[in-house]
Amino acid sequence: MGYPKIKQVRAYVIKGGEGGGGADYHDQGEGHWIDNHIATSMGRYPEYRQSRKSFGINVLGTLVVEIEADDGTVGFAVTTGGEPACYMVEKHFARFLEGRNPFEYERIWDQMYFGSQYYGRKGIVVNAISGVDLALWDLMGKLRQEPVYHMLGGAVRDELQFYATGARPDLAKEMGFIGGKLPLYHGPIEGDEGLKKNVELIADMRSRVGEDFWLMYDCWMALDVNYATKLAHKCHEYGLKWIEEAINPDDYWGYQQLKKNVPAGMLVTTGEHESTRWGFKMLLEMGCCDIIQPDVGWCGGVTELLKISALADAHGALVVPHGSSVYSYHFVITRHNSPFAEFLMMAPKADHVAPMFHPQLLNEPIPEKGRLKVTALDKPGFGVNLNPEVKLYRPYEH
Ligand SMILES: [Mg+2]
Repeated sequence: MGYPKIKQVRAYVIKGGEGGGGADYHDQGEGHWIDNHIATSMGRYPEYRQSRKSFGINVLGTLVVEIEADDGTVGFAVTTGGEPACYMVEKHFARFLEGRNPFEYERIWDQMYFGSQYYGRKGIVVNAISGVDLALWDLMGKLRQEPVYHMLGGAVRDELQFYATGARPDLAKEMGFIGGKLPLYHGPIEGDEGLKKNVELIADMRSRVGEDFWLMYDCWMALDVNYATKLAHKCHEYGLKWIEEAINPDDYWGYQQLKKNVPAGMLVTTGEHESTRWGFKMLLEMGCCDIIQPDVGWCGGVTELLKISALADAHGALVVPHGSSVYSYHFVITRHNSPFAEFLMMAPKADHVAPMFHPQLLNEPIPEKGRLKVTALDKPGFGVNLNPEVKLYRPYEH
């Protein structure tokens, strides 16, 4: 069929302080809730307890991948990965795309993954693969003049509904979200006193939001099974809906145990730092959780998310992708086992709705009263543009 071939793949980094934030959403200015004493496994070192930036959470920066077709059409995507991912895209993965039909996304994905298997499989390599894959879907949508969600099978409902992640679930409720997910502030190193503060915060939020509003805790890999079990039981009386990413993502056996330990009805969720069908197979087949939360910019892109999602569906697990804005929305609207979406409150005080990937993307849709009509996604590709005012660097060429 008459589609143009891929002419060139280009990879750029957006450095912090020059339009930082965006896809590297931890790269925020001082005083932002996302970097205020959040529990992590680095909290055992007092010098790294107050700020995640102190141990380098924002060192990578945003990766921008552009894929240009012979007719001049350009697909693009943003994710994290920065300069190291630029190297992989330019020096390694570009060879699997240039001169090819862009609709051969299965073969392209397969060659990127198995061509880098000896050093890849997870982490930043799969971030880079995800960035290329998302840019490819954006290009396909632009060539067909169709939104990505059409190409994924079409919408199964008229609108998306969102819960909000941030420091102020009480304000999120007023803004119309269906729930609020708090970061956990105190890790095991802060002992019983820290545990008490964690429980008090949920109790306080419950008193502000009333009975029916969802409240969740995101533990960002900071806990051990024993602590997570205690936290789950102590928060149960305040209606904690789920406990997220409580322990080390490599400890599948720990998640399996935690899932058995939590009070009946409380959900265990995880997976934002998991990747590929093989990683999620471990979580699903070992019965580690109720909801998997792949990040479409990190798990292998849309091509891989479709496989992960089919596997989850067969295991009766929900798929609620981690953050990632339009890259998630075009998927969530097409799947019954993805009934709602996450919205990261990127306003420094979590007191209003701000575009998640600001300032890097233009035309990024945001929820109104916690909802977004599918018609907001009715543009070719992912329907967003790169902000020309954000400075791009291309550290490598091939
Ligand atoms: Mg999370």
